[in-house]
Amino acid sequence: MPKGPEPKVYINGKLVARVEATVSVYDHGLLYGDGVFEGIRVYGGKVFRLREHVDRLFDSARSIYLDIPLSREEMAEAITSTVKANAKQNGYIRVVVTRGAGSLGLDPRKTTDPQVIIIVDDITLYPPELYENGLEIITAATIRNHPNALSPRIKSLNYLNNIMAKVEGVRAGCLEALMLNHKGEVAECTGDNVFLVKHGVLRTPPLDAGILEGVTRNAVLELARAADIPVEEVALTRHDVYTADECFLTGTAAEVIPVVKCDGRVIGTGKPGPVTRQLRERFHQLARE
Ligand code: PMP
Repeated sequence: MPKGPEPKVYINGKLVARVEATVSVYDHGLLYGDGVFEGIRVYGGKVFRLREHVDRLFDSARSIYLDIPLSREEMAEAITSTVKANAKQNGYIRVVVTRGAGSLGLDPRKTTDPQVIIIVDDITLYPPELYENGLEIITAATIRNHPNALSPRIKSLNYLNNIMAKVEGVRAGCLEALMLNHKGEVAECTGDNVFLVKHGVLRTPPLDAGILEGVTRNAVLELARAADIPVEEVALTRHDVYTADECFLTGTAAEVIPVVKCDGRVIGTGKPGPVTRQLRERFHQLARE
């Protein structure tokens, strides 16, 4: 394969070579996971749902008292121009805003310069055969953060909650793990939202189940409504997962991926179902429009 040009990373208004894109070891993003981020897709040279991602980034920042030193418009412009500078037609964008360098203590008032970083790269998806055959998941013992501890609505740089659940999945031989909330209801997976289909109705946990409001989740809900598929945002339990006709996950990196087994139980027929296939197809069309 021919090697592409050296990627250029945006850092605080400058485009630099990857090796030159560095932050201080005193940055509270590194020291404490104090910061926010976004993962975004580029399809056919166009940034998918840019406005939604920028809005979520700014909402996350607002929620943790972090002032992003750019307006929403400037951030959107920085993202699109970094994509152009990398001549990337299809790829993945990571936007990171850290609290900046400070003293060795938690107090954010001791930090000075929030770092704005935009990386444009490729994304490693699940192996293609899993999109055809479906994924197997387990329920993690680690529950999703209690919303009164750290709201799962914030896409913060502190992902240890999800990483602990991911490790449980990986150790059980699964690439994703289902996370419950503090009430024992289904919340989401470690990096994806979860959907079920039962008797033709598409069901997904509501935002107050303690989940990240996925941009892909919202796109799939819109697609389902447009296709006259009945949709319910309701509290779900593991019983609902085990007895569902179909299950799939959504995420920027994962797109729409079928799940055919959870905790060793076969879901539906054990093969990706018709509603999942239809929504996956419609999502591809939308992304490539
Ligand atoms: N939940 C979590 C915890 C996530 O980190 C993500 C993003 N990877 C999602 C859901 C899916 O969100 P989106 O569709 O916006 O990528």
